[in-house]
Amino acid sequence: MKEYQKLEFDKKRFRIKHCPCGKSNKDGKFIPYKGLDNCGYCHSCGKTFLPELQKNDNMKFEAQPKQVSCISPDLVEKSLKASNNFLIFLNSLFGTDATESLKERYKIGSSKHWNGATVFGRLTISGK
Ligand SMILES: [Zn+2]
Repeated sequence: MKEYQKLEFDKKRFRIKHCPCGKSNKDGKFIPYKGLDNCGYCHSCGKTFLPELQKNDNMKFEAQPKQVSCISPDLVEKSLKASNNFLIFLNSLFGTDATESLKERYKIGSSKHWNGATVFGRLTISGK
């Protein structure tokens, strides 16, 4: 089973007489991929011509489930209690209530990474 096709430029660029854009390849500006006649890169028109994917190529596109690591809820709470440069900036523009609301809504936390560092938390579907 062929899982993927590696695209490599063919050194024999002059084997192709015309770029897929229609221009002559006398000047060798179109470089085809190995084993393909109408796919490659054209220095004249600046386009890359890629092969169409066939549905029955048995190509693998299934994403591997990623292992998700989550920060402990205690640490998230601590992070949300502190302030940071971004929250100070928001507060100067919108006041305390709006800033608090934004902080809760977007889980804008603080970190000791540097003085005033901001953390933009991301939630999993289950709220972790
Ligand atoms: Zn071209």
